[in-house]
Amino acid sequence: MYIFTKIADLQQFLSSQLGSIGFVPTMGALHIGHLSLIEKSKSETNLTVCSIFVNPTQFNDKKDFDKYPNTIEADIEKLASVDTDVLFLPSVDEMYPNGTEKIKQYEIGYLDTVLDGKFRPGHFNGVCVVVHKLLDAVKPTHLFMGEKDFQQCLVVKRLLEIIKSDIQLITCPTRREPNGLAMSSRNERLSKGGREKASAIHYVLKSIKSEQTKSNFADLESRFVQYLDSNSFETEYILLADANTLELLLDFDPAKKMVVLIASKLEGVRLIDNLRIN
Ligand code: AMP
Repeated sequence: MYIFTKIADLQQFLSSQLGSIGFVPTMGALHIGHLSLIEKSKSETNLTVCSIFVNPTQFNDKKDFDKYPNTIEADIEKLASVDTDVLFLPSVDEMYPNGTEKIKQYEIGYLDTVLDGKFRPGHFNGVCVVVHKLLDAVKPTHLFMGEKDFQQCLVVKRLLEIIKSDIQLITCPTRREPNGLAMSSRNERLSKGGREKASAIHYVLKSIKSEQTKSNFADLESRFVQYLDSNSFETEYILLADANTLELLLDFDPAKKMVVLIASKLEGVRLIDNLRIN
């Protein structure tokens, strides 16, 4: 596996390669979910580039940024174990030579006003900034992202429209722990007991899916917010949305493709998850 820390070196190497390039951007603390994206990229493209970069401009909460796990030695081993071709590991200065204060603003529109757009102001603009910079550096033909970050996938789809890119975005299913907890780098910050408890989020999503014909969504939402919060969670939202547009739905509408999305904090760690329910 080749490791580059400078954009110029990465580009010099890539310019000598033929065929399609798959790109998997990550923030490190890699787990099986990340590796599943690498494997998908390897199966669909000629050369796979993974980046590890904890992007400061997408953290609306400085403490969250400071506490983001860093396991770079183990990450490199994991990437090598699945035969990743290239790891791009830039510094903040390399990605933001003019600093992180004045950054480009993207016209994300509606998607930036709901769910994590509403609860994490500036987050998705920061995601657009870094993904755009990384795409300019790597120039991939294919981009692989996880449905775990459902809204992020739609925002990046919007970014590709804004920048008139023909890169193919491929979204990949969420990998879970045996207890249903969606794998996430942030899970590293949970206690052992917290990791068990956190499986309640997936339980709630499954319960809403199975009860959609018996109850209205508002009743389920208030019941499950109460359930989570009486079990030490601090829930930001449980919402129902159109899976194609993220238009929020007041009640189940089987004529639409629907997704339920949750953001809830446990032990001070903000966890998100979602489930398509039809
Ligand atoms: P992150 O390092 O959290 O920025 O994630 C990098 C990529 O991995 C994003 O496209 C995520 O959606 C994806 N990802 C994170 N967790 C999972 C998971 N449990 N299953 C599949 N993909 C994931």
